[in-house]
Amino acid sequence: MPGSVTGATDLEELRALATQAAQRAYAPYSKLNVGAALRSAGGTVYLGCNVENAAYPIGGCAERAAIAAAVHAEGADFHLEAIAVAAFDATGRLLAISPCGACRQALVEFGAQARVSFHQPDGSWSDVLADDLLPWRFVLPPR
Ligand SMILES: [Zn+2]
Repeated sequence: MPGSVTGATDLEELRALATQAAQRAYAPYSKLNVGAALRSAGGTVYLGCNVENAAYPIGGCAERAAIAAAVHAEGADFHLEAIAVAAFDATGRLLAISPCGACRQALVEFGAQARVSFHQPDGSWSDVLADDLLPWRFVLPPR
C-alpha cells in the first residue's frame, strides 16, 4: 500500500524514514520539504510528505498526510503510537520545525500519548508527548 512500510519498530527508524519522506515533498512555493513517518499501535509505519498548491490554503502537511494514509489503511482502529517529522530547505539543509497547530490537533485526536519527534536548531531530536504540544486542544462537546 502506498504510504505504508512494515517493520520499522523504533524511533530511530521513524526518524530515518521521515528524513527520506521529506525528499518526496512537493513544496515549490515554500521550498520547505517536510516528511513524516508514524507508527500505529498495530506496528505499521505510514509515511507522508507535504503537498503544496498554488492556492496556498489547500496545501497539506506531512503529518496529516501520514495520518490520512494510516486511517485509510486501519480505519477507526488506527491509534497513533509515535511520529517523527523532518524538514529541509531546497538545498537539503536541515530545518528545525515542530508540527503546526492543525497537525497538533490531528495528532492528539489519534494519540494524545504518542511520542512526537522533531529537530531542534542544533540538529538534535526532541521527543515530546502529543498532549504536551497542545494541552488546550479543541474537544467537541458531547451533544
Ligand atoms: Zn501541519
